[in-house]
Amino acid sequence: MSKVRTHSASTDLVPISERIRYMQLLRLGVAVVVLLASWLVPGALGAGFDKLALVTVAYVVASLAGEAMWRFTRRSTVLFGTLLIVDGLYLAWISYLTGGLISPFRFLILLHLISVALLASYRTGLMLALWHSLLLFIVFNAQEAGILNAPTDAIRALPGSEFQRIIAFSVALWLVTIATSTFSAINERELRRRRFDLERLAKMATDLEAADDAPGVADVLLTTVVDAFDFGRVLMFGSPEEDLHLMGHRGDVGPARMGASPGNDSVIRRARDDKETLLVTELEPGTDPCLASMLPDARNVVVGPLSAEGRSVGVLIVEHSLKSGSRIERRVVGMLERFASHAALAMLNASLLEKVQRMASTDGLTMIANRRTFDASLQREINRVSRGGEQLSLIMLDLDHFKMLNDTYGHQKGDDVLHRVARVLEGECRDFDTVARYGGEEFGIIIPNTAGEEAVLLARRLAEAIRRCYEDITLTVSMGVASYPYNAGDPEGLVAAADESLYASKRGGRDQVTRSTRTPNVVGLEEARKSADGAA
Ligand code: GH3
Ligand code: MG
Ligand code: MG
Repeated sequence: MSKVRTHSASTDLVPISERIRYMQLLRLGVAVVVLLASWLVPGALGAGFDKLALVTVAYVVASLAGEAMWRFTRRSTVLFGTLLIVDGLYLAWISYLTGGLISPFRFLILLHLISVALLASYRTGLMLALWHSLLLFIVFNAQEAGILNAPTDAIRALPGSEFQRIIAFSVALWLVTIATSTFSAINERELRRRRFDLERLAKMATDLEAADDAPGVADVLLTTVVDAFDFGRVLMFGSPEEDLHLMGHRGDVGPARMGASPGNDSVIRRARDDKETLLVTELEPGTDPCLASMLPDARNVVVGPLSAEGRSVGVLIVEHSLKSGSRIERRVVGMLERFASHAALAMLNASLLEKVQRMASTDGLTMIANRRTFDASLQREINRVSRGGEQLSLIMLDLDHFKMLNDTYGHQKGDDVLHRVARVLEGECRDFDTVARYGGEEFGIIIPNTAGEEAVLLARRLAEAIRRCYEDITLTVSMGVASYPYNAGDPEGLVAAADESLYASKRGGRDQVTRSTRTPNVVGLEEARKSADGAA
């Protein structure tokens, strides 16, 4: 099943060291009961205190020696088995001493068997039952052969033969052992499953910490689901908005089979909108062509919503490969729902993080890069082009008489102009250029791998496009162009050079482009190159 291993290599619910400790407690308890009984009611037991005390003390010493050996060698399994053999011998001996089949200590054998059946494995319980039965017969045969004292008259007077009574007691031992071991195994299997489920959830939570976007979350969810339950085909649809789109899949779901997006009658939409898990025995191509084409011949499909904080952000679909006639376990559906809700919460967090990151790097009015992003991009791009011996140009752009435009048409119109200009700049520039709002009505455009002359041509094109933005408003811009490394060797110098040129355009009567004539400090330029290399 799962390839995931937890920190503990053992799959035991109770470690063997703890089982040994509990068994030692049981041994001490049995010894105390035997000593107290033989001290308080020696006559009723048919054996003297001295004899029983001697055997019991020897037994306690043997158990403690065994424990000491375990602490020294740590060979737990061998010791556990050896001490069980010693227990059998002790219980058989005190039962024999106190009247055989009428000994009240016979019930300690049952107690011993129940305890071991609960604490150890099914197999150990059965082996121990065999050992106790064997000892019963050994004592019986030893008595018959005259090696041990014959049973008392009180026992002989009981109904049935001695052999029949031993058989009856042995059967009782076996029944108790089988019943206890079986019920304990059922409990243990359930506990093991729960532990496995919890471990899977914990592992998924850890994996989700590393997934900081929606595709990453989808990947973790699909991997977790397939690992945990070995499903053949799994799909995940995302639904950040109204629309549903396939975000990932596992198993034989090729892109060729992916039809159109799920229709209104699709179980995918129903699960998402009702925020309820649906168990579908067979997909209907008539009402669900999309899903039926992706999962041809699918049977026993679980369709569960990815919902958190009252919102459905997607749908998980798994095909449960069951033998015909069997049902999907409630536990499996419950786990799928838990996996899905963890993933949904992670998706919400990822989209929140993305939103915050976008807000921190974008200007809220124009939706282009803000000053912070501009500064970071300029430094990064200068580092990059300097490594490749390339150049870079910067255009600083300022709207002319913008204050007057605000005063004439109002600030809302001014905002609209800023927004429109940003769209024009974005439209005219390449994807890898950075268009940013530098502040107020000033924009900065970083154009990597571009020489000054080309940047001037671009600037003129931009001015023309901005002029054509409005028919009713005369909109002109002044621009300054500076290039790395010809006008400056660092970001600050380049901005200052482009700014100087921009103000030269303003002084020259506005609505024009000026190219910087600044020459960089050569030493400063060398230093800039070195620091760029260092940053790389
Ligand atoms: P110049 O041609 O010399 O650049 O003159 P100008 O009026 O464009 O320059 P000035 O620096 O005098 O005024 C800039 C104006 O830009 C002032 C300010 O109200 C306006 N402004 C800055 N940010 C915003 C904004 O976000 N929205 C609006 N509507 N106006 C803004
Ligand atoms: Mg201005
Ligand atoms: Mg200005």
